Amino acid sequence: MDLVLDDEHRAIARTVRDFVTRELIPLEPELLRRERAGERQLTRDELADLRERARRSGLWGVGTPPEYGGAGLDPVAQALVRIELCRTFVPFTFGGSADNILFAATGDQIDTYLRPTLSGERVSCFALTEPGAGSDLSGLRTTARRVDGGWVIDGEKTFISRGADADFAMVFAVTGPRTSTSSGVTCFLVDRDRGWTSTPIPMMSSWEAATLRFDGVRVGDEHVLGEVGRGFELAMRWIGQGRWLVPCRAIGAAQRLLGMAVEYANTRTTWGAPLADRQAIQWMIADSAVELESVRMLTLRAAWLAGTGADTRYASAIAKLSGAAMANAVVDRVLQIHGGMGYTRELPIERWYRELRVLRIFEGTDEIQRRTIARGVLRGDLDVDPVGW
Ligand SMILES: Cc1cc2nc3c(=O)[nH]c(=O)nc-3n(C[C@H](O)[C@H](O)[C@H](O)COP(=O)(O)OP(=O)(O)OC[C@H]3O[C@@H](n4cnc5c(N)ncnc54)[C@H](O)[C@@H]3O)c2cc1C
Repeated sequence: MDLVLDDEHRAIARTVRDFVTRELIPLEPELLRRERAGERQLTRDELADLRERARRSGLWGVGTPPEYGGAGLDPVAQALVRIELCRTFVPFTFGGSADNILFAATGDQIDTYLRPTLSGERVSCFALTEPGAGSDLSGLRTTARRVDGGWVIDGEKTFISRGADADFAMVFAVTGPRTSTSSGVTCFLVDRDRGWTSTPIPMMSSWEAATLRFDGVRVGDEHVLGEVGRGFELAMRWIGQGRWLVPCRAIGAAQRLLGMAVEYANTRTTWGAPLADRQAIQWMIADSAVELESVRMLTLRAAWLAGTGADTRYASAIAKLSGAAMANAVVDRVLQIHGGMGYTRELPIERWYRELRVLRIFEGTDEIQRRTIARGVLRGDLDVDPVGW
């Protein structure tokens, strides 16, 4: 057993750390100003400019297979990259990436959807959730009706990330009898100019999500992604694969926040001594360090497992659940250590406080992660008494 990162992994993390420190963290005050002014966080041009700078630093397509020009990094390296990127709340991702199900594109779909998404020319969104179907997808009501030479889509999607900006949507619609949760659903690639509309949803943080409306939107057979009736498998692939990347957000944010708390505790004095000398403060820092370290181990283990080709459902659910709890606990303590200053808008802590709350909701809520874990334990898929590790 080797729990030490190799030189290559460390070098990748260092390169991303330098990029984040140099290019992204300095943008934070401006992004806070924009948020308060109700302006967009990053425009497409600004994002393209940052991506160009990243490309010049050798950072491009970290999660993309080499056959599409990506770096093809292994899952542990991808996790390290994500952790470093999430040390800032600037909503930046390296170019050359696409939602994993878009790699199911075939024929002309590759040039129309996949490649332009990888190059950053086109923006996609993943449209599964509906007003009546979130955790429980048996409630999907969006339908795609077969007509001569194609399909007609009717329905509404909600909470769709990038939905207001997307050029096309990967839309999940009922196309046949739903004899089980996984049957009767098909995924369609639907360009905005086919006639769907979006309405931004004001969120607690600066996360950009929207409601999408489909009223008689017509698409051809060539817009089916994957196979008719097998869209649910694609959706599960999107949700299941790479879920270990979600707690990386928690780790990156918590590392940065804890660093802020340490600095403040060492410099702020009360009754003639720094806060760092007080046991109450030390315990908050110790608890945060313990939780952070354990989530880091759980997450990197899930990523490492993904690299072995093993089923990562339970490892990812455990990492995601504990990461979300950890980040919310850490940001709360860090705010507490900063006292009144922590509650002001002069510091970015309140932004993190709002930003991190969503970790307990999206990509499977806390309760749904617990359900997955409990089922695994109760069915015996997840061995709670293993011989060895
Ligand atoms: C910022 C943000 C971005 C998102 N981006 C996308 C996106 O890009 N694409 C997309 O398709 N969706 C997206 N979503 C939707 C997200 O996946 C759903 O919000 C999530 O799955 C929960 O569904 P729901 O909101 O309908 O809650 P519900 O399913 O209605 O659940 C409400 C509450 O009840 C709990 N609950 C539900 N069932 C049970 C049960 N059986 N036992 C115990 N507790 C239960 C839940 O955990 C939750 O706490 C996004 C959401 C947010 C907030």
